[in-house]
Amino acid sequence: AAKAGGRDRIAVFDPSMYTAAVKEAEGRTDLERGLANNEFVVNYQPIVDLPSGKLVGVEALARWQHPERGLVAPDAFIAQAERTGLIVALGAHILRVACFEVAGWQRDIPGAENVRVSINLSARQFQEKDLVDMVRSALTDSGIRPDLVVLEITESLLMQDVDATVITLHELRDLGVRIAIDDFGTGYSSLSYLRRFPIDILKIDKAFIDGITIDSDDATLAEAVVGLGKALRLSTVAEGIEHIDQQSMLSDLGVTYGQGYLFAKPGTADEIAEMVREHYGPEAAQ
Ligand code: C2E
Ligand code: MG
Ligand code: MG
Ligand code: MG
Repeated sequence: AAKAGGRDRIAVFDPSMYTAAVKEAEGRTDLERGLANNEFVVNYQPIVDLPSGKLVGVEALARWQHPERGLVAPDAFIAQAERTGLIVALGAHILRVACFEVAGWQRDIPGAENVRVSINLSARQFQEKDLVDMVRSALTDSGIRPDLVVLEITESLLMQDVDATVITLHELRDLGVRIAIDDFGTGYSSLSYLRRFPIDILKIDKAFIDGITIDSDDATLAEAVVGLGKALRLSTVAEGIEHIDQQSMLSDLGVTYGQGYLFAKPGTADEIAEMVREHYGPEAAQ
């Protein structure tokens, strides 16, 4: 009886639950404040052609320029933004900023008119009725060519409400944008499911890339994922390439594009614009 009483007390007064609830509420308020104060910025990481290493596009990655905490990475705020629904406003902001900034590079940097931009969408954004309108106005207002915009979604999103997702993806594709499946291989998509979705690109998760040059099982798995992409006639992007031997192995396997610290870490808009300029500038052309 004493034990049961103890358990009851713990269930009702557990101080760690209280602390967690307070932290969640504080985090939410801070996110709202950050959004209102325009503290969220976009960093970009180059995506390159394999094997040449030539920059063909960039992925937009959210960062929080926090007044006290400094530059905060997405792992520390995306999940809470999803739980609170604030990801809808945050995601719309990131999409608009990325479209405007990359449209500016395409316009201002000679040779860069075809640079692509990939933008992450969260599952929560797909529950919004006006997602397609939101994307359409970002495209129209920025003037970016829709076929140079890639929307990255995760496998788990595809599995949530298949029929509704298929319809929304078709509507997005009708705007002219491309669809990529992010972190591919970490979810549960079956082959037959995958065929139902209008997708263009598979991004192979870093977890499959890490061991390919040292572990033959990993190499076999990566080869199978690349084969899947080819069978479905999709482009493939290998994420998290850190070593040159991974680059050559992946390009031998026929992977279309690569992204990773070997080529470039994510950088600010100014830093990556400079990199794009160097890539496409007069010296690079000679
Ligand atoms: P992701 O979309 O898979 O983005 C790739 C992540 O891998 C980025 O982390 C990038 O910095 C990291 N990365 C790239 N190459 C390498 C490498 O060679 N080595 C290592 N160790 N890491 C590498 P980041 O910027 O911290 O973003 C983490 C995740 O947060 C993203 O994963 C994405 O799922 C999410 N995220 C970022 N921005 C947004 C956004 O605007 N909206 C939504 N919904 N999610 C976002
Ligand atoms: Mg991504
Ligand atoms: Mg990814
Ligand atoms: Mg990933």
